Amino acid sequence: MQRNVDVAVIGAGSAGLAALKQVAAATDSYVLIDGGELGTTCARVGCMPSKAVIQIADDYARRNLFARLGIDGAAGVRLDVAEALEHVRDLRDIFVDRVLAGTIDELGDRFLPERAHILGPDSIRVGAATIRAKRIVIATGSRPIVPEAWRRLGDRIVTTDEFFEQESLPGAIAVVGLGGVGLELGQALYRMGCEVTGFDRLPAPGGVTDPAVASCAAEVIGREFPLHLGAPVTLSARERRIEVRSNEHGVVVDKVLASVGRRPNVDGIGIENLGVELDAGGVPLFDPHTMQVGELPVFIAGDVTARRAILHEAVFEGRVAGFNAVQPRPIAFARKTPLTITFTDPNLCAVGADLAELPADASVVGEVRLGSLGRALIMARNRGVLRLYADARSGRLRGGALLAPDGEHIAHLLAWCIERRLGLVDLLRLPFYHPTLEEALQAAARDALAKLGTHPPHPADLEPLASSPTGA
Ligand SMILES: Cc1cc2nc3c(=O)[nH]c(=O)nc-3n(C[C@H](O)[C@H](O)[C@H](O)COP(=O)(O)OP(=O)(O)OC[C@H]3O[C@@H](n4cnc5c(N)ncnc54)[C@H](O)[C@@H]3O)c2cc1C
Repeated sequence: MQRNVDVAVIGAGSAGLAALKQVAAATDSYVLIDGGELGTTCARVGCMPSKAVIQIADDYARRNLFARLGIDGAAGVRLDVAEALEHVRDLRDIFVDRVLAGTIDELGDRFLPERAHILGPDSIRVGAATIRAKRIVIATGSRPIVPEAWRRLGDRIVTTDEFFEQESLPGAIAVVGLGGVGLELGQALYRMGCEVTGFDRLPAPGGVTDPAVASCAAEVIGREFPLHLGAPVTLSARERRIEVRSNEHGVVVDKVLASVGRRPNVDGIGIENLGVELDAGGVPLFDPHTMQVGELPVFIAGDVTARRAILHEAVFEGRVAGFNAVQPRPIAFARKTPLTITFTDPNLCAVGADLAELPADASVVGEVRLGSLGRALIMARNRGVLRLYADARSGRLRGGALLAPDGEHIAHLLAWCIERRLGLVDLLRLPFYHPTLEEALQAAARDALAKLGTHPPHPADLEPLASSPTGA
């Protein structure tokens, strides 16, 4: 059987659905193909259920401060783990249902619940049928990596694909891989009562490259549960348990959360039949501004690109890919300022350029430690650091990294300033309310200006009126 369409979208995740919306606005001739579990990684096993777990863990952990604040009864506060995990699954189901109701449920026979196998740049095998498509969007996502040697340990190894299905928590767990996902879930598990040990072969947790912020994160989060960084692990079975070793550190646990990264789903989908160059990971070379693969009528989007495996980037790429799949010629779109947030407490965030990318002799770093920040002290959450990077000559903001309570909001403000091409003085001329956490941003910008030795004729945060004799 053969079916001819204008566009075939492979993958009904966040990227694929964003692409589909663009396609459906331009043509009725399309199919969406997905042979896996529906509802998107974000809603089913990613962003949303993980944040639901973290919310419970952080609310519960707050009891540890009660005595200091004069609130009695903390010792009587208990977490019903089974109830809590059921609440997470309930929320997860709501998010998944919402995805399905707004999209796939309404597609009728335009939705093909099968695995796609690419036969060439204009044809796909789907079950017994061949789809001939003028354009193809590949949005097949990624899956958790489980090293081959760990597979024989069976269900003692848990990935985020299984994590949110658990109805109870293990007594002791090792989190192997302390990128954003491992760090978030490790801290949440610790706060929910598990004995947690974290391991990563890299020296810095959370994938943050700024050394001052990374070491602050290791110190602050490491106060709650041990983080063994900078060496690989070996896993061995110990009856029904697992021994995890890394150099001189060893621990025997009930389960291991394998959070060592995700592999793009490019294997087994016939990617080689496109006949284009693949990178070392098997991902076809593509233009990140058009999402076009080589010169082919094929576009790619989301985690499958193995570049920025986060939700808003997947959606951005899906929109670009879908839009371009219905244009006579692809249009190039500007990428947004990089922004990553790890929802630990404090949040660990990176914005804009990496410090290592910037020329050291032409950049300035403004820094503020949060120990004495008024609002953070009041919240009893005054651990962390905020660093922002600016061009030493123009003062233009380039990037930053921070470990801060509710840092997600500060990170957004900084990203928006960078996106709008603001400089240190522009930032300081914006209003800052008192007492707020945002004042940390103001303090870091002032620190950067002071380091530059810039002495404007008036305070940097006062903007002279153009009509004023001193205004220029
Ligand atoms: C635990 C966890 C927490 C996260 N937290 C955050 C967060 O807080 N913020 C954030 O921004 N990001 C977060 N992410 C990342 C985010 O969830 C992903 O970047 C995003 O969901 C990727 O979307 P996607 O469309 O590329 O992939 P997916 O949503 O995985 O969609 C891919 C689809 O392709 C289908 N598919 C695969 N192969 C085939 C085939 N051959 N034929 C047909 N269909 C196929 C699959 O079944 C799947 O439905 C988190 C991820 C995890 C795992």
